[in-house]
Amino acid sequence: MTSRFFPYSAQQADLPPLDQQMLDDVDSEWLRQAFVWANAARLRGNRPFGAIIVASDGRILAEAFSNTRETGDSTGHAEMNCVRQLGTARLAIDVIADATLYASAEPCVMCAGAIGSAGLRRVVFGVDKQRLQQMRPDLRPSAMSCHDVFAHSKHAVECIGPCLVQEALSVYEDSWLSPNAAP
Ligand SMILES: [Zn+2]
Repeated sequence: MTSRFFPYSAQQADLPPLDQQMLDDVDSEWLRQAFVWANAARLRGNRPFGAIIVASDGRILAEAFSNTRETGDSTGHAEMNCVRQLGTARLAIDVIADATLYASAEPCVMCAGAIGSAGLRRVVFGVDKQRLQQMRPDLRPSAMSCHDVFAHSKHAVECIGPCLVQEALSVYEDSWLSPNAAP
């Protein structure tokens, strides 16, 4: 999956690197699965975000897409929906602590709070919030980032991203870009 969409240039110097660090094959595979869920969200008319939580033994613990438009629930972000699945599954604390949440895009502060509260300790995300903001300059930029929230979580949360940005951006082609699109 490659992106034909690179709308930014003027503020390129202000953007984080395309890949904060090179992912190994396992992380890359799961992050790409989050992109698949983001695309599923888009196809259903939702905002194009997806997430998946994977245990250290490779078991999928949760997977979800953003369904805010479908449900009218403004908290239905992909990461939030995943965290809710963890609660439903009644998983052991140590299983959650050793798991990784993969998100197609940088988690917002609401989701970052939920991730920390759930006891997750590792996050890998695709496109960063600065690039998302460039796509939708009509939206008010958020000064806080998930890194700020994770820095104050009850447990340390390792957060890796942006990663595989060019692939992540392909989900946003022809969606979420129109000034008339809902936030
Ligand atoms: Zn969110």
